[in-house]
Amino acid sequence: MAKDRDNCLFCRIADHTVNSQLLYEDDLAAAFLDINPRAPQHVLIIPKKHIPSLAELKPEDAALMGHLVSIASRIAAEQGLAEKGYRLVCNCGENGGQEIPHLHFHLLGGRFLGPYTFPLESDNFNLADMEDE
Ligand code: 5GP
Ligand code: ZN
Repeated sequence: MAKDRDNCLFCRIADHTVNSQLLYEDDLAAAFLDINPRAPQHVLIIPKKHIPSLAELKPEDAALMGHLVSIASRIAAEQGLAEKGYRLVCNCGENGGQEIPHLHFHLLGGRFLGPYTFPLESDNFNLADMEDE
């Protein structure tokens, strides 16, 4: 388990051995800015416990997951996102587009975010068209 933490970027951010722009932390969780923001505001919320993904979640993690969502809601309000809305995303595994194998929520906001799934070619979707509306 210690080895998992040593090899895990987000465990190292949680341990402060890798720097991040921290917005919030407590004994169980941390929130920091995404290094490659995909929206004007893009925050990552992680448990300090190394949970690789939603697929490895245990029943005893339920309260921790509620805590993470509650932190996301609070940060969204603090960042002025609550009125116009935002998106909370948790990618899981290869098809879900998860790159870092330590469970995390993406809090995205600050503009209209488009459909919540990646468009299929058949959808003929153009985000710029929707923004003009
Ligand atoms: P995933 O694709 O696993 O759902 O999301 C991983 C996120 O971590 C990506 O949005 C990526 O930009 C972010 N990320 C990757 N490396 C770092 C880093 O070293 N620091 C921070 N703050 N974010 C990172
Ligand atoms: Zn980890």
